[in-house]
Amino acid sequence: MSEEKTIFKRIIDGEIPADIIFEDEQCLAFKDVHPQAPVHVLVIPRKEIPSIAHLSDEDGSLMGHLLLVVRDLARQLGLDDGYRVVINTGENGGQTVDHLHVHLLGERYLGWPPG
Ligand code: AMP
Repeated sequence: MSEEKTIFKRIIDGEIPADIIFEDEQCLAFKDVHPQAPVHVLVIPRKEIPSIAHLSDEDGSLMGHLLLVVRDLARQLGLDDGYRVVINTGENGGQTVDHLHVHLLGERYLGWPPG
């Protein structure tokens, strides 16, 4: 892992602002700065994990927690017609920030396959 803080670690540390809509002891959820849908939220663990490829077996409950937070946020945001949950991983996965993050996208129809 690079010594330099990622932009998401800087958000966790309060060094740069974000539109935070939820936080607890394990994670933070904030609005994506370049939304790809009317609702576009990122849920990130406070723990510095670069990507899914870097998960340890002990991170299983943390990952489950992130998905339960996504479920609750989707309900709160009224995404009753469905939504998409995405975790881009590595170069071919289109990951641009090396701090694991879960995208929650909704309030429009999302085509498949993705680009
Ligand atoms: P990914 O391409 O999966 O790594 O997603 C990174 C996401 O982080 C992109 O959708 C960016 O728009 C978003 N992003 C980058 N910097 C910020 C920031 N400072 N605040 C909120 N979202 C950001």
